[in-house]
Amino acid sequence: MAEETIFSKILRKEIPADIVYEDDRVTAFRDINPKAPTHILIIPNYNIPTVNEVTEKDEAVIGHIFVVAAKIAEQEGIAEKGYRLIVNCNEHGGQEVYHLHIHLLGGQRLGRMVV
Ligand code: AMP
Repeated sequence: MAEETIFSKILRKEIPADIVYEDDRVTAFRDINPKAPTHILIIPNYNIPTVNEVTEKDEAVIGHIFVVAAKIAEQEGIAEKGYRLIVNCNEHGGQEVYHLHIHLLGGQRLGRMVV
């Protein structure tokens, strides 16, 4: 079993989060420390710690995250101008929370791809 993170508590509604989308497979909520006007995290409803632990059994949920990302981008009014999806993995990737998540960032022209 993957270790619990703060995101498990958000999924169980034990701590508050600004949830913008949820279904039986994924949940999306606003990042508490936004790096752009729109900064939303999309997570699977079960814990995959990092991309390194993704296996074939996760393919459907990972694909679904992209479907939901497109929906949310439309909902947020940033689809046409564009946005960025980021997944950080482990220390060099700058991962802080070990529950796989995709950052959806937009609402302004974003800077360099890698700092
Ligand atoms: P990462 O560095 O890819 O692991 O990103 C983790 C993200 O989770 C950071 O952008 C944090 O600001 C965000 N975060 C941490 N705790 C919370 C929380 N309780 N609610 C919303 N976002 C959070």
